Amino acid sequence: MSTAALARPRDEDDARCGEEALFRHAPCGYLTTDDDGTITRVNDTFLGWAGYRHEDLLGTSVTRLLPVGDRILYTTHCVPQLVTVGAVSEVVLEVVAADRSRRACLLTATRTAASPGRPAEVRLVVLSIPERRAYEQQLVGALRRAEQSEAARVQAEEDLRRQALRDALTGLPNRAGLDAEVTRRLAGGDAPVGLLFVDLDHFAAVNASLGTAAGDELLVLVAGRLRECARASATVARLSGDEFVVADHLDGAAAAALAQRVLEALAVPVVVQGLEIVGSASIGVAVSATAADTAERLLHHAAVAVHRAKARGRRRVEVHDPTHTDAAVDRLRLLGELRRGIADGELRLHYQPRIGLAAGTMTGVEALVRWQHPVRGLLPPGEFIDVAEESGLVRELGAWVLDAAVAQAAQWARDPVRQTVEVAVNVSTRQLADPGLVGAVTGVLVRHGLDPRLLVLEVTETALMTDPDAAATALRALKELGVGIAVDDFGTGYASLTYLQRFPVDELKIDRSFVMGLGVDDGAGAIVATCVQLAHAMGIRAVAEGVETEDQRLALVAMDCDFVQGYHFARPLTADALEAWARERTGS
Ligand code: C2E
Ligand code: CA
Ligand code: CA
Repeated sequence: MSTAALARPRDEDDARCGEEALFRHAPCGYLTTDDDGTITRVNDTFLGWAGYRHEDLLGTSVTRLLPVGDRILYTTHCVPQLVTVGAVSEVVLEVVAADRSRRACLLTATRTAASPGRPAEVRLVVLSIPERRAYEQQLVGALRRAEQSEAARVQAEEDLRRQALRDALTGLPNRAGLDAEVTRRLAGGDAPVGLLFVDLDHFAAVNASLGTAAGDELLVLVAGRLRECARASATVARLSGDEFVVADHLDGAAAAALAQRVLEALAVPVVVQGLEIVGSASIGVAVSATAADTAERLLHHAAVAVHRAKARGRRRVEVHDPTHTDAAVDRLRLLGELRRGIADGELRLHYQPRIGLAAGTMTGVEALVRWQHPVRGLLPPGEFIDVAEESGLVRELGAWVLDAAVAQAAQWARDPVRQTVEVAVNVSTRQLADPGLVGAVTGVLVRHGLDPRLLVLEVTETALMTDPDAAATALRALKELGVGIAVDDFGTGYASLTYLQRFPVDELKIDRSFVMGLGVDDGAGAIVATCVQLAHAMGIRAVAEGVETEDQRLALVAMDCDFVQGYHFARPLTADALEAWARERTGS
């Protein structure tokens, strides 16, 4: 026994024994963790309830017992309160049992003060609430039956007639139903008819990664949100798959305003099969202009507009402009020009510094592509990446970027005066899916003689989720080469942490849209803080993108974020300009 324990007064030992017995025999689950959330003790009641063995849990992070949505709940709701010794926080959440099933429980958390020989600990009491689920299901069943006996009996005949015009999953009018509605509205008088073509972004990734049942659930939730946004008299229809249309008597301004509301409503996260999903959509708006407009023409115009919204980076609204030539023709022309531009050497790379927050020094750069167009000037990637991605031309573009960035990094690495900098290169969805990627990366590294540890590849959540198995295989091989992997635009896609853990990731890049809200919007602040904590819980680095102000920098320092990038430090610069910038900063 240690001298500290011998010196402790007897009544304290008694208290400890009593507590230990209580801990062991309590009829509820009881866990303790250290300040980092690592489980230090767990009682048999909890183990029996969740089906784990001692050795499964001791030394692991308590958040690993929670589904993703509940981890965020725990880290944003409970953890902040634990700062105060003795404060008690309570939250209803689910625990993932050893057999992967979910168990609802009431979690009560408190933190004890450190005493001599005994560090502070967090104590968690877990009370199972198995009845909760069953009760909810009963309620839903009863409500459904009541609805059926009321409405279905009266409307059986009417429904049968209308079924041909309705979508079975959401109960909304289908394409034929929409046509009939819009035709009726157009015939109805002088008020213009506005159409919103709502196309969910990356819906295929939800189906591919979470299954079609989850996809269906999401579609039903989206249908509900659309109904809530529109007036009661509006028509909300489902065309096919992930395409919805809202039709109402609206002029251009009212239609655009409604479209904005829809975008905002879809951005509020929904829970699908226990996972939190942030929806996003591209919306095309068309408004009837002449008496000659037909439902089909309007729908075509809205479809052209939505195509443009997707091309311009998704999660946005485009209004159909009758003076504009068909978007498809534009894209085809752009694609031809880009193919020629790549061959003629018109691509350029700019480099944005990445700063280590603690030391304030540049540790790396992100390579960002630009196109020096002979007529339109220097174009940002937003103008051409999507066309390249859709057509597959992104492979050639990506190969050029990789080669140019690695060549530049190798040149910098050879310079004895300069400190070594990592170079991060963006890899698109198609590139990641390309079985030749690993070979291409190896070839480029060897050709330019760059240490693989100085290369980081940035992949988006969406790219990971499109074909998770293929992505995991490719990333593991890249990792073995020594190349770093970053998850880009973290927080905007559908990836859940459970998923991320399958990939050998070295850093999370927290999306600019959250960083922007730091200090302005508490929700955004909480998300950034949670992302940083999650990254650290996974043992990886957190990078904040798009830092524009000193206040944002300070907030990130307080959150213990590792790296930052943004206009506050530097915009993306040519290689020469970057060198000058770095010289000026270090005063050399
Ligand atoms: P990204 O990977 O998220 O890159 C960061 C973007 O944010 C860059 O835009 C950068 O200029 C911009 N940015 C950085 N700091 C700030 C800030 O403080 N405020 C604001 N408002 N913006 C900031 P950029 O260069 O236009 O690139 C846009 C996107 O194009 C990139 O987003 C990336 O997804 C894609 N992209 C760029 N280069 C490549 C490439 O070589 N290959 C592929 N596949 N995609 C690329
Ligand atoms: Ca990036
Ligand atoms: Ca990004």
